[in-house]
Amino acid sequence: MGIKAQPGVMDIALYKGGKSHVDGVENVLKLSSNENPFGPSVAAKEALVRASHTLHRYPSTDHAGLRAAIGDVWGLDPERIICGNGSGEVLMMIAQAFAGKGDEVLFTEHGFAMYPIYANANGAKPVVVSERERVVDVDALLAACTKKTKVVYIANPANPTGTMIGEADMERLADGLPDGAILVLDGAYAEYVGGYDAGKSLVESRNNVIMTRTFSKIYGLGGLRIGYGYANQEIIDMLMRIRGPFNLSAPALAAAEAAMRDVAHTEKCRTDNAKQRDWMAGALAELGLPSDTSTANFILVRFASEDEAMACNDHLMTQGILVRLVAGYGLPNCLRITVGDEASCRRVVHAIGQFKGTKK
Ligand code: PMP
Repeated sequence: MGIKAQPGVMDIALYKGGKSHVDGVENVLKLSSNENPFGPSVAAKEALVRASHTLHRYPSTDHAGLRAAIGDVWGLDPERIICGNGSGEVLMMIAQAFAGKGDEVLFTEHGFAMYPIYANANGAKPVVVSERERVVDVDALLAACTKKTKVVYIANPANPTGTMIGEADMERLADGLPDGAILVLDGAYAEYVGGYDAGKSLVESRNNVIMTRTFSKIYGLGGLRIGYGYANQEIIDMLMRIRGPFNLSAPALAAAEAAMRDVAHTEKCRTDNAKQRDWMAGALAELGLPSDTSTANFILVRFASEDEAMACNDHLMTQGILVRLVAGYGLPNCLRITVGDEASCRRVVHAIGQFKGTKK
């Protein structure tokens, strides 16, 4: 075959998502992809069904209804919002628009696995920066910047560590970047943090920041693929030029708009998550398994060794419980466990207790 991919394309690692089944096991509990155990709001499901009556029509190309809902709920200017097929599409568009051959894309050592893929897919060089005890290190990031740095991806809260940096650090990072570099504040888990504006004030006070958010996590709509970005008008205008005209389906737009407006459901999911997460982290700590303080809907549990983490994962699989191995994130002695509902948290803690040989 004479067809060849661009240089470097075949070196890009394939993204491996969380497993969703275990052979021969029924009643599988999936705690491997940070999904919302309650699913989307009822209003979102009803809106999706209504949208199914007009599937012969193309969807909106300007996403006006969804942008208005996001603007109303979060106090954002709808004109400065770009919607994507999952926040992943917005993150990819950022690399497409701002980083190419000869440019550098920065992210941190335990950062989201797609960041190097966005860089490589656009011919830019991925640059990995060390963290400090599983927390993004702003000084190390600033020290790693060069004139070639064009994009800096930071998830806040971070995945898979669950840790966060504060507002002063985010400001210091934005202000310390070289001219022409853009700071991406990936807020996939931002709604789980009470009182956090996900970078809104930073976007509104700086010209080099874009924040991204998703409907895949707290809104329980991972299966529909919806996300968005918020930045100044110039940045949004650049991204709009490379966006596909119908990148979100009509059912996805309808469901997302209704989900965004159902603030009571979002709030219920946030408070329940915090309660179960803190209970689960405490119960596992009592079993001798510490985790960093998580602000998200998962915890990163640390084992004494890689062997112990693998053995625990194997045991959980026999119990039909799927959690995430994060060796690929440079965390071989850890397991990332999504916070489920109360029964799910009890089930996973019980199974880990069995593994540890402790009655719980
Ligand atoms: N950023 C982070 C940190 C994530 O964990 C994820 C999903 N795992 C995404 C972005 C992408 O999410 P989506 O494309 O579903 O919006």
